[in-house]
Amino acid sequence: MHSILKNLIAFNTISCNSNLELMDYIQSYLKDQGIDSILDYNQDKTKANLLATIGPNVEGGIVLSGHTDVVPVEGQDWKTNPFELIEKDGRYYGRGTSDMKGFVALCLELVPHIKNAPLTKPIHLAFSYDEEIGCQGAPTLVNHIAKHVPTPAFAIIGEPTLMDIVHSHKAIHCYKTTIHGTEAHSSCPHLGANAIVAASKLIAFLEQELAKSPTNEHFTPSTNTFNIGTIKGGNAVNIIANQCEFIWEVRLLPGYNGQHIIDALNQFSQTLITDKLDISTTELYSAPGLSSKHNEDVVRILMNLLPSNQCHAVAFATEAGLFEKVDIPSVVCGPGSIEQANNPNEFVDISQLEECTTFLKKVINFACQ
Ligand SMILES: [Zn+2]
Repeated sequence: MHSILKNLIAFNTISCNSNLELMDYIQSYLKDQGIDSILDYNQDKTKANLLATIGPNVEGGIVLSGHTDVVPVEGQDWKTNPFELIEKDGRYYGRGTSDMKGFVALCLELVPHIKNAPLTKPIHLAFSYDEEIGCQGAPTLVNHIAKHVPTPAFAIIGEPTLMDIVHSHKAIHCYKTTIHGTEAHSSCPHLGANAIVAASKLIAFLEQELAKSPTNEHFTPSTNTFNIGTIKGGNAVNIIANQCEFIWEVRLLPGYNGQHIIDALNQFSQTLITDKLDISTTELYSAPGLSSKHNEDVVRILMNLLPSNQCHAVAFATEAGLFEKVDIPSVVCGPGSIEQANNPNEFVDISQLEECTTFLKKVINFACQ
């Protein structure tokens, strides 16, 4: 059994919880190997990113990046304890086995190997918090690397891709739109302003706007997409609703930011706003897309190190876009399948972990050239 993975799975690092115990574990494991690491805390010091560099302090290093939080298990039909690593039929079961403690565990397992390799370029381990709730932890970690670490050559983000190279992904922007209307008895519509009706008009407008999307055949679906995740509003059928709020996201092809959608929405909102009704939209979080324009060389190098020789684009967002934003070319490649990521009875095939270990050893060899 992979003992590091077993230990990582046992920390309940659902994004609403602290990840500090897990980071303490990683930090002391690295310390035992003679590797220093730094923790980059959130504001209230309940969570942290971790960064460690192994090898010479020079440019051209390779960042191995992963997140330490996992998605919730509540309400899911788990057949085993999600926080206990269970081996069965060539698979490991447990929350985070695919997404993505499997990759983080392999990086750590390889530390003795990395330490003993004749590295000419450093290997940087960069582990973040709160990726699952909108890449909230990684920005300060990535900025720290950009400012204080000799410029790395590239970053590998080990999200589950079944060990294919992902060269591009969509951006994600999440917003909350709040409508304050005016309450009145339903028999007197002339006295009120219905916030739910305004919300429905805004949603219809957004759907129409997003339908004008450009296309990129690398992606499935090939367009920008849009989802209303939650909507809340109103108190009773005979009261004109004085408030409504909906949370929505757009997933945008690389090269597009959400601003034109927000501009169009704000312009349309102005046509609905009266002295009885107000509308505001705020961004809750965002994560930039990853474009295949900036990582062609890295994709070529890494494809040669993999048996599958496959590369493609995906619709889910990762921390790779953040690295690209600070001019560190990056790709996504890791063990397990994204289809497992939010599901009960999440698993990773042990053969995937073996394939990833072989790949990472070749990456380490590359850092010795
Ligand atoms: Zn993930």
